[in-house]
Amino acid sequence: MCERVRVSLAGAVQGVGFRPFVYRLAQELGLKGWVMNSSTGLVLEIEGPVELVQRFLDRLDAERPPASVIFAREVSILSPAGFERFEILPSDPGVDKTAGVLPDLATCPLCIADITDPANRRFRYPFTNCTNCGPRFTILRDIPYDRPNTTMSAFAMCDRCQQEYSEPSNRRFHAQPNACPVCGPHIWIEPGHSKSEGSATDSCLRTVAEALRRGRIVAMKGIGGFQLLVDARNDEAVTRLRRLKHREEKPFALMMPSLNMVRFYCVVSPAEEQLLLSPAAPIVLLRPNGRPGISQQVARFSPFLGVMLPYSPLHHLLMQEFPYPVVATSGNQSDEPIAIDNQEARERLGAVADLFLMHDRPIARPCDDSVTRIQCGRQTVLRRARGYAPLPIPVSINLPHILAVGGHLKNAIAIAKGRQVFLSQHVGDLDTAEARAAFERAIEDLCRIYQFRPEYVACDLHPDYASTQWACSSGLPLIGVQHHQAHVAACAAENNLRGSYLGVAWDGTGLGTDGTIWGGEFFLVQGTTFTRIAHLRPFRLPGGETAVKEGWRCAAALLWEMHGSEGVAESPYKPFLCKMLTHSINTPITTSVGRLFDAVASLIGLAHRNYFEGQAAMQLEREIANLHTAETYPLPGGDWAPLVDAIQSDVRNGVAPSWIAARFHNALACWILEVAGQAGEKDVILSGGVFQNAYLVSRVRTLLEERGFRVHTHQCVPPNDGGIALGQALIAAGIQR
Ligand code: ZN
Ligand code: ZN
Ligand code: FE
Repeated sequence: MCERVRVSLAGAVQGVGFRPFVYRLAQELGLKGWVMNSSTGLVLEIEGPVELVQRFLDRLDAERPPASVIFAREVSILSPAGFERFEILPSDPGVDKTAGVLPDLATCPLCIADITDPANRRFRYPFTNCTNCGPRFTILRDIPYDRPNTTMSAFAMCDRCQQEYSEPSNRRFHAQPNACPVCGPHIWIEPGHSKSEGSATDSCLRTVAEALRRGRIVAMKGIGGFQLLVDARNDEAVTRLRRLKHREEKPFALMMPSLNMVRFYCVVSPAEEQLLLSPAAPIVLLRPNGRPGISQQVARFSPFLGVMLPYSPLHHLLMQEFPYPVVATSGNQSDEPIAIDNQEARERLGAVADLFLMHDRPIARPCDDSVTRIQCGRQTVLRRARGYAPLPIPVSINLPHILAVGGHLKNAIAIAKGRQVFLSQHVGDLDTAEARAAFERAIEDLCRIYQFRPEYVACDLHPDYASTQWACSSGLPLIGVQHHQAHVAACAAENNLRGSYLGVAWDGTGLGTDGTIWGGEFFLVQGTTFTRIAHLRPFRLPGGETAVKEGWRCAAALLWEMHGSEGVAESPYKPFLCKMLTHSINTPITTSVGRLFDAVASLIGLAHRNYFEGQAAMQLEREIANLHTAETYPLPGGDWAPLVDAIQSDVRNGVAPSWIAARFHNALACWILEVAGQAGEKDVILSGGVFQNAYLVSRVRTLLEERGFRVHTHQCVPPNDGGIALGQALIAAGIQR
């Protein structure tokens, strides 16, 4: 008996070789029908004997291309149509654009082989790619993902490229950015050279390598924007980059030519190796192993080196020419958005870069390098951008059309639609006009790609966040979502957790519903109801925002709370500080665990200020690197006074900072266990920037799992404010339903 079946696939199925895979499978089984990209993903009809159709459906799932992700599959049985062959049809320009747009994928081993083979026509060609690799999200102007809808539309394929593109058995069959030295984009350098042809690529790369050798700063147009490159071994060069980029102490990311070199400088676990080599090719935070060579200026106050491997052919070729670690940081000044356009880069980076490595393939939208780390053997994305965005987060409930605008720092926005939430790439801190413009572009962009019309807008409760202000002026029905509830909901969503659970939200700052600054909160969550069942004992932040940067102020505030002015350490600032505290001048109340970390780092003399967010906490975590102890301090019910007493006495007795740091972390973990016992929920969610701390997460996991709790942490979505748009969308949907 014959049957015809229609299959619709929604997910990341375009641009990964799915249609050729379907074509080959149908040919092999002798089935007739068609397949095409649609705006909802991919649709196909298959016709033949029932048993063979069933085998086709089984193998469709089991053998699908590795880079594809399928979120939904609908199969309907139709009456036979009498197809004569199997064919690939042109795309359906339909209206419901929920297709999974794929992220940019790192160059695959076959393409690396092509560019290193002198006999290959793509030998040393910087824009080599195939269906398994290459740019996607950053060249896509519209969906469906077809060449005319990409920034490659201006490049007409030569005969040989066209042949590859049209041949189903070819690795470049329907590879939208397919190109070669004859027909594709080229590189050149500025000032000086004009566009390169053929062997001129070599001279460009040699010039850039020579510039790096001499300590010059190179602005290189990459995949998701410009990067600033400098020799990471050269103190003077790295210091100069810091000065010109106006970046005081925030660590720089490194690119290293090979995994072997990463192993030479860092301790790398198998999970970390896998992440470095994955198609997303993110920056991975690794512990340096102490070998000299990398300039101290790269990451002075960080216990980690952020390292990535080359992920585009241009990076591979450059690293062959200059086989040493280079700083590879976003092409911007200070915290502005990354530059993507050639002219924009000349204007904005002209004062920083000595040399530009340009190319003529336009970048459709900015996409920074992603940042990840391994915690308890699992991946945690800390900055979600290149390689991950805009893959949707599948959720278990049907959502109305909600636009969630995220927080103020580490901003990312999200749109919710059906059972998917599309989280934008990392937008950044919204402190500058440029950043706010990028934020608005990200909203327009995501809405346009997915033809999305928001019915509601969800935002933070903080009236001063640029995202909240945008939401208020959007004219859409507004749903304010409490910051820490959004953190918890985001983690629950990505772990597909519903019903009731305990949510722990610890971070630096976020506005609470009582007008104070929260950041050490426990919520009992029952469906859509959040009950704040515990929190850190409140204290004051003398100087408000200034206290966020200057941890010694937090330390002084704790001591003042315990012992009055007597307790505060003598310093030229003491009278001024005590006056502020006594008269409650600019001293907002907080329950922030992030600030408690800062205070403890200052009490033990490890760090008195944060040159970048989370620095003091990172330094505390580093102290425990090689320590195994269950010793702890008292922190009864979140009251830090006994803890501070114990720390001060340890400091007086000359106890090593590493022991103090370990006992402090353990005290926090024990407090979570204590509250979990009281809450009586099996499932415990950990969210907020504090849980970027691998030691704390592993300690909590061990303690709770030993007693039968299930601990859920972030993996795909950042635990920091980069993830709250997801939680905002979920909570807003709960309020709306
Ligand atoms: Zn490839
Ligand atoms: Zn060509
Ligand atoms: Fe937060």
